[in-house]
Amino acid sequence: MPEMPLVVWIAFAGVLGLLVGSFLNVVILRLPERMAAAWEQEARDVLELEVEPSPLPPGIVREPSHCPHCKHRLSARDNIPLFGWLLLRGRCRYCQTTISIQYPLVELLSGVLSAVIVWKFGPSWQALAGLTLTWTLIALSGIDFRTQLLPDQLTLPLLWLGLLLALLPMFVTAPSAIIGAAIGYLSLWSVYWLFKLLTGKEGMGYGDFKLLAALGAWMGPVALLPIVLLSSLIGALVGGSLIVLRKRDSQIPMPFGPFIAAAGWVWFVAGDHLLHSYMQMTGVR
Ligand SMILES: [Zn+2]
Repeated sequence: MPEMPLVVWIAFAGVLGLLVGSFLNVVILRLPERMAAAWEQEARDVLELEVEPSPLPPGIVREPSHCPHCKHRLSARDNIPLFGWLLLRGRCRYCQTTISIQYPLVELLSGVLSAVIVWKFGPSWQALAGLTLTWTLIALSGIDFRTQLLPDQLTLPLLWLGLLLALLPMFVTAPSAIIGAAIGYLSLWSVYWLFKLLTGKEGMGYGDFKLLAALGAWMGPVALLPIVLLSSLIGALVGGSLIVLRKRDSQIPMPFGPFIAAAGWVWFVAGDHLLHSYMQMTGVR
């Protein structure tokens, strides 16, 4: 790696994160549409229906960005991450429709978290892997928030990558990664079935198990309990305040994936510190 002060690398990561954030917005919006279209196609094939297939939704990479309301193509300056939205004050230049705050939020989040990753790991292969993890977790969280789905197209590659990195090893050894992945999946799977048997309701989905399996592959079995506890804590805080503030119906299931993703990311970056301070607090050596 060329000699550059760390602060330059951090700034570079922040800008890169903003740019990738724009792309993540497109993934969050279009991946579920593409998946739905693929399911429709499969259903038609299986049932041998003689129905005209609906046109395929836009591709993730090829189609240029446009206003979802008036379909006007966005100019380069409107497309600048974060600042485009700020300059337009959150409205489409052509039809004045409000542009969802999701766009600048995802870009900002991606920029800040990317900078934190490089601050933590420095310019290294670890940082590059960490950025991949971060961006995938942001995409998964956004999709889960919007559609209550955690697509296999994202959770499974994240799992494979975690297992492969452990061969180097990068963050954990291969045995740790394998055990982490298995326990990650099975722990939530058992909670799911226990919850379902006791209440008849489904508290989470199979995507959640796969996500925790992926995090187990990246961070090993030791990280799983803290991640689950942390995600329940974040989920209870966010869910509770949503119910209080917006009078959200507590019967509507909250997506759990974003909280697992958030807790996993926090543990990835600060797990060693959190564990250390916890041990100091409780006097465990
Ligand atoms: Zn418009």
